[in-house]
Amino acid sequence: MVGLGVLLLLAATATVTLARAGERATAPATADGGRTSYAARADGQPRPATYPRTGTGDFATAPGESPVRGTDGPLLHYRVAVEQGTGQDVDSFAATVDEVLGDPRSWIASEELRLRRVAQADDADFTVHLATPETSERMCAEGGLSTGGHTSCRLPGQVIINLARWLQAVPDYGAPLAIYRAYVVNHEVGHELGEEHQACPGPGEPAPVMQQQTYGLDGCAANAWPYVDGSRYDGEVVPGT
Ligand SMILES: [Zn+2]
Repeated sequence: MVGLGVLLLLAATATVTLARAGERATAPATADGGRTSYAARADGQPRPATYPRTGTGDFATAPGESPVRGTDGPLLHYRVAVEQGTGQDVDSFAATVDEVLGDPRSWIASEELRLRRVAQADDADFTVHLATPETSERMCAEGGLSTGGHTSCRLPGQVIINLARWLQAVPDYGAPLAIYRAYVVNHEVGHELGEEHQACPGPGEPAPVMQQQTYGLDGCAANAWPYVDGSRYDGEVVPGT
């Protein structure tokens, strides 16, 4: 594994081949709710459990609004909510979500949508939740998704980020926590925008943001963004989402 960091920066140029034949019959057949492959790969050193497994089940909503992000397209409104008992500050979480979704490498780069955070549920097209493992598991299960309390998920109108992953990412991710956080926000919001899962295009290449990077990188390098070097960066769509 030489120079993955360099590849992360450089490999998204014309050399990237997106049209590899897919031989990933083992791709998880569920959304981010499957509990199969991660457990088999969890051979890294677990980080200390410094987060609560459960909270109150009640959520605090981030107050205020963000500026409109993006240059063109329909305006979607999102809300940010943090479960009480997570120990996480709702304003801080909202600021991170705003920063990710407002980044020029995020979905607004399509120039086909704009985003703005709002505080009122009635005004929001979707809500980004930060929830403890037990609460997120319960919420995802209400939509038919099994996360095992491990992964994040998305239900219609609801992005549900698992506190454990927000604080610890995953073993062997190979990138700073901030990159994993940007990945999980972009990935789950991508589902809300209609995106399906994608496969790693090839060893050493950047992982598409719609790859299930929580389950492992499959030889790709961690990547948090749907747009790399100004262009949409995709892998082959994986059936079964
Ligand atoms: Zn997913």
